[in-house]
Amino acid sequence: MSVTEESPTVKTFVFKTPHPITNIAGQHYELRLTAENGYQAARLYSAVVTGTGKEEVTLTIMNVKNGEVSPYISEDLKVGDEVEIRGPFGKFFIWTGEEYRPVFLVGGGSGVVPLHAIFTAHRDSKSKAEMKLLYSSHTYEEILYKDDFLSSPDVAVTLTRNAPEDWEGLTGRVTKDMLGAIVDSFEAQPICYVCGMSLFVDAITEALQVAGIPSTSIKTERFG
Ligand SMILES: Cc1cc2nc3c(=O)[nH]c(=O)nc-3n(C[C@H](O)[C@H](O)[C@H](O)COP(=O)(O)OP(=O)(O)OC[C@H]3O[C@@H](n4cnc5c(N)ncnc54)[C@H](O)[C@@H]3O)c2cc1C
Repeated sequence: MSVTEESPTVKTFVFKTPHPITNIAGQHYELRLTAENGYQAARLYSAVVTGTGKEEVTLTIMNVKNGEVSPYISEDLKVGDEVEIRGPFGKFFIWTGEEYRPVFLVGGGSGVVPLHAIFTAHRDSKSKAEMKLLYSSHTYEEILYKDDFLSSPDVAVTLTRNAPEDWEGLTGRVTKDMLGAIVDSFEAQPICYVCGMSLFVDAITEALQVAGIPSTSIKTERFG
């Protein structure tokens, strides 16, 4: 296992697997921990790296304050420790590369993890489908995958709590106008992938419908 810090509260873990893995962008795994007394706890985490034949699983995990599982993974798991990982799972919130329609990704906080997988799968594929991402982060420090996102003209980041003085991106919570402007900028009506905490997903789904996107074109995943 190797670990990279993405932000003050988020780390990316690469777990070696005993056999090659095939997964699709947007899928997730179940990570199960077993204590010495036999107590088990499992949580779902999205695949970060997707494709065929890699003998590893990469997960980006936010340390949720007072959470049962994520603080243990973030603070106590050491290189060499073994964990149980099952999967991949998920047939709906996926992007296979065969989709010809434009794609609008909208993520909040760690909800951006599966969207990043879809974004990089799209970048690395020959897909000509238009793809844009709107990402809501509390602060600049908490923005995940800065190297991929901040250099892309197809990514808009909005900072909801505070922004550096020289920040040139969006600020404040995602509004209906913000979403509507991006929806209107697509050449054709996009299929939308929304991921984050439940309240965020509900608000975005409603705003997308106001912007003219039918519910059948909105895929959602709720993290908590
Ligand atoms: C399909 C799917 C994919 C997921 N992928 C990821 C991923 O890639 N990375 C990731 O970090 N998490 C992901 N999650 C969330 C993850 O499964 C856990 O819910 C999260 O790690 C919290 O677990 P916990 O045991 O630490 O907290 P718990 O003890 O389960 O919960 C403690 C409290 O924290 C809240 N909470 C749960 N998740 C979050 C969150 N993300 N932010 C803020 N508060 C939260 C809960 O509502 C609860 O009130 C995913 C969830 C689903 C359903």
